[in-house]
Amino acid sequence: MKKLFVIMLALVVGVAFSVGMGPFETKAEAKTTFVTIGTGGITGVYYPTGGAIAKMVNNKRKEYGIRATVESTGGSVFNINAIMSGDLEFGVAQSDRQYQAVQGIEDWKDKGPQKDLRAVFSIHPETVDLIAAVDANINSLEDLKGKRVNIGNVGSGYRQNAIDALEANGLNWEKDFNAESLKAAEAPGLIQDGRIDAAFYTVGHPSGYYKEASSGTRKIKFVPIENVDGLLAKYPYYAKAVTRVPELYPGAANDKDVPTFGVKATFVTSAKVPDEVVYAIVKEVFDNFEDFKKLHPAYAGLTKQSMLEGLSAPLHPGALKYYKEVGLK
Ligand code: GLU
Repeated sequence: MKKLFVIMLALVVGVAFSVGMGPFETKAEAKTTFVTIGTGGITGVYYPTGGAIAKMVNNKRKEYGIRATVESTGGSVFNINAIMSGDLEFGVAQSDRQYQAVQGIEDWKDKGPQKDLRAVFSIHPETVDLIAAVDANINSLEDLKGKRVNIGNVGSGYRQNAIDALEANGLNWEKDFNAESLKAAEAPGLIQDGRIDAAFYTVGHPSGYYKEASSGTRKIKFVPIENVDGLLAKYPYYAKAVTRVPELYPGAANDKDVPTFGVKATFVTSAKVPDEVVYAIVKEVFDNFEDFKKLHPAYAGLTKQSMLEGLSAPLHPGALKYYKEVGLK
């Protein structure tokens, strides 16, 4: 009788193990949760940022059972929409885009407020910049008249920044010049080929994009973006900024820092993503903050407290749990 019981128990255990569940499941055998992080073009800073976060979480794969992968995408607006439709679990998005999605304005005017959008933390600062070929004689936004200019792909975060900057300077992108709607990663090559004269982009620094754009044979320069006081008064998410061009991109034809305005990169998710997944990611980044900061030079000025600023969507409960535990909230 005892022998029979042992055999039966062995059978039950065998079955439980073969389907990977049941009373004898251990942590290491628990099923893996796959999450995808939406980023931007590969010469931007979102792509390495997604990689940095994924790397930290994947290091603890055994402990958390999370496997994070990174996807190169069209940028902020694409990422928010893909998170809302459940195609992505996480994404990087500009703070202005997060605000607009929550409010249901600009790109979300027709869809309405994105009620399930959740903030996790903010990351590096981003500036809105315009570069132009030196031979195109563009010294202000006004000089873009009649030129070929990339204002950005639909789905990017920076397209609206370009439109706002132009509007603040009395320009209409649909009438005053030949606007291109290209992905940022394509622009430096097209400037070099002489197919466009200038291009907008909103990105952290230093980025591969500007390194590429400033190291070609066709010289480029950063054009100051001025007359932004009205913009700053109208939109709560914009702040004055400068781009430290001579220090960061010595190949560009600027000998001084360039004035402009900026936003912040933020990390967002959906209310539908489980608390323990968000908690694990936040914990890995914040518990290993000094290691995280070393993963990209754009993070140099980050503090834990600054990473809780610039968020307009409600904090995801998994993130909030961690911030409360460590006294950040
Ligand atoms: N801010 C850009 C956008 O949302 C992306 C910048 C990046 O990829 O680093 O369009």
